[in-house]
Amino acid sequence: MQSKSTKYIFITGGVVSGLGKGIVASSLGMLLKSQGYSVTIQKFDPYLNVDPGTMSPIQHGEVFVTEDGCETDLDLGHYERFLNQNLSRLNNVTSGMIFWDVLTKERRGDYLGKTVQIIPHVTNEIKSRIRAPLTNEYFDFVITEIGGTVGDIESLPFLEAIRQFQYQNREDCVHIHLTLVPHLSATGEFKTKPTQHSVKELREIGILANVIVCRSPEPLSFEIKEKIALFCDVAPEAVITSVDAASIYDVPLILENERLDAVVLNHLKMPIQPKKMAGWISFVEEIHKPNLSEVQVAIVGKYTQLSDSYFSVTESLSHAAAANHCKVLVKWVDSEEIEKNGADSYLKNVNGILIPGGFGGRGTEGKIAAAKYARENNVPYFGLCLGLHIAVVEFARNVLNLKEAHSTEFNEKTPDPIIHIMQDQKDVKKKGGTMRLGACDCKVEPGSRLYEAYQTPIISERHRHRYEFNNAYREQFEAAGMTITGTSPSGDLVEVVEIPSQKWFLACQFHPEFKSRPAQPHPLFSKFVAAAKG
Ligand code: GLN
Repeated sequence: MQSKSTKYIFITGGVVSGLGKGIVASSLGMLLKSQGYSVTIQKFDPYLNVDPGTMSPIQHGEVFVTEDGCETDLDLGHYERFLNQNLSRLNNVTSGMIFWDVLTKERRGDYLGKTVQIIPHVTNEIKSRIRAPLTNEYFDFVITEIGGTVGDIESLPFLEAIRQFQYQNREDCVHIHLTLVPHLSATGEFKTKPTQHSVKELREIGILANVIVCRSPEPLSFEIKEKIALFCDVAPEAVITSVDAASIYDVPLILENERLDAVVLNHLKMPIQPKKMAGWISFVEEIHKPNLSEVQVAIVGKYTQLSDSYFSVTESLSHAAAANHCKVLVKWVDSEEIEKNGADSYLKNVNGILIPGGFGGRGTEGKIAAAKYARENNVPYFGLCLGLHIAVVEFARNVLNLKEAHSTEFNEKTPDPIIHIMQDQKDVKKKGGTMRLGACDCKVEPGSRLYEAYQTPIISERHRHRYEFNNAYREQFEAAGMTITGTSPSGDLVEVVEIPSQKWFLACQFHPEFKSRPAQPHPLFSKFVAAAKG
């Protein structure tokens, strides 16, 4: 529901990638929301994939899944966690999506007689997406983060669209540019030149930044800020330092201290309101408490060199750690290393084992060995999606004695297909956005660990998979001590398995990590960390 009073905040980045635009966007959103404003955040990604669902996590980091089943950029995870609010498929836009829509319209004849061009057809499509989150809902602020770095060829259509949008809605827009101010240890100086060049590059495109957020290892002095202000044509108070932080959750407090929200509100002539941030502040205080007991959790996967691949998982563990008054130390274990050297050498001293989602056969046997180690040594085990498949295959092989049991994802010819393709996935040939995706209800067995965590008979969680537990094996599993404690409401689809005789052994078909929030840790992560701590 668009309204004249909606304000638009754009965030671009310069100098280098990876400065944390997503965290700045999320932090500002959180500071505005804590003042009672309604806020949404969207990400514009300049790549040509229609969505990141088909990209390797090594290339792109985690694929975050929304309630409505859209595979999105991991920044959407930050937005949801910082805003404590669900987002939707309208909040992530890629060049691929824009071109797809423009070309579909061209084929339909919507532009008959016209030459279809980047300007105005692509830029108009982008401009319509700036307002898209307002389709069903009113927001006081729409924050739009542009992926990539100013100067990239592929982000030019987005920047031109924003330039036009700002020209047409000048009073309602503010443009924040995030840059790097490096500190040279040899001379002890901060260097402002990269920032000047980046702002100049933006100006050549026709965009004047109103606020410069400078990522820097140390706070910038007023003199440095004045210098940046002079060269970048902004007020000195609109030069904000985003100093390197111990935790991403510190960033809203750092930026509040630098008055980022006040500068933005002043620019937009909106009132500054008192903030309600008690929950956030107590979470941040908890994670920084000294002398917290340490709990070591092994995450066994194949993308362990890049923690971005499992971002929501590690964030969920940190939320759960705060709730349990402890610190979770993540030990990244590459499952292929387990295949070479055995599970003992990597898992001997850990307090909990977590196997996250994944695709493809590489490293599978190492993950199965990790699940076996957890079961045989009574180490708390938490399996997420693929982590459920792994747990049941291990149980089939080593408890039910079905030695060749497997998932048909990894061995189509296995005599015991404990995990097989879902019925409605059998004829699916296309790869993009075709998995079982998004929120589905799950029925919870009373008296189970699952029930103990949620305390409610029906839950809803987000999914992203094609394979499922094979119902032909249900009875054998239950008789041998692995119980099915969560199913789809009809009872057809296995959603959760547990081994009640173990200290804590639970695996779910869904991805609980997408719903954990700093001040509302996910109940399954909390129980898993509690078990690991105990
Ligand atoms: N590869 C498995 C499937 O498609 C698991 C997916 C996942 O872990 N997200 O069912």
